[in-house]
Amino acid sequence: MISCKNVVKTFNDLEVLKGIDLDVAAGEVVVIIGPSGSGKSTFLRCMNYLETPNNGTITINGKVIEPKEASLNQLRQEIGMVFQQFNLFPHMTVMGNVIEAPVLLKKMTKDQAKAKGMELLQKVGLAEKANEYPNRLSGGQKQRVAIARALAMEPKIMLFDEPTSALDPELVGEVLSVMKQLAKEGMTMVVVTHEMGFAKEVADRVIFMDGGYIVEEGTPEEIFERPTHERTKEFLGHLK
Ligand code: ADP
Ligand code: MG
Repeated sequence: MISCKNVVKTFNDLEVLKGIDLDVAAGEVVVIIGPSGSGKSTFLRCMNYLETPNNGTITINGKVIEPKEASLNQLRQEIGMVFQQFNLFPHMTVMGNVIEAPVLLKKMTKDQAKAKGMELLQKVGLAEKANEYPNRLSGGQKQRVAIARALAMEPKIMLFDEPTSALDPELVGEVLSVMKQLAKEGMTMVVVTHEMGFAKEVADRVIFMDGGYIVEEGTPEEIFERPTHERTKEFLGHLK
């Protein structure tokens, strides 16, 4: 579903991604862990060309990404993204947020989009908040709306960049459980997170990034129980 080959990204003189290879199969859940500044967000952003890699190729669903505007719009319809900061439109209701993109880009009627939107809000447990404004929601609720909004475009892939890092601890679980459900339903997911419990339970594969490289990857068991690289051991050691 996703194939990244030798992805390199530099900002001015700073080489942030130093040649990353990663293949993600359909239905696979890949969790990326690693210290702050190791390039995790940049790598996710390269996958849907929010950042343009300086080198390398990214293939989505068999198609090599060409950075032309039309094909990027198509690409972003196929890849949903959820950020640490929820980025909801504050002047729109929850339902308004969810139906904005499908009405604009998928040429759905408002009624069609609303029906679909209500299904999605039910899925994330927020049907009763459809007419609220974002500032009346908790962080966990906002993030669940952000997930519903991304799903409204019917993406084939979902990218999550530290979706629970901005939340109070007691709100983390409700967001993770929505993500778990999504994984169970077979969504292809790449998740940057510090939630090691989630990684252990849900990931098919865990990637450890450091200094712009993939240092080590394996099953959750391999990475958490038997890491082989010193840097992985050190990083996991700090979390205990
Ligand atoms: P992580 O998500 O692992 O914390 P990032 O991908 O956000 O790491 O950042 C990796 C490095 O790239 C950091 O040194 C960061 O300062 C730098 N960086 C990220 N985005 C930009 C940007 N738009 N311009 C310049 N430097 C950036
Ligand atoms: Mg980051």
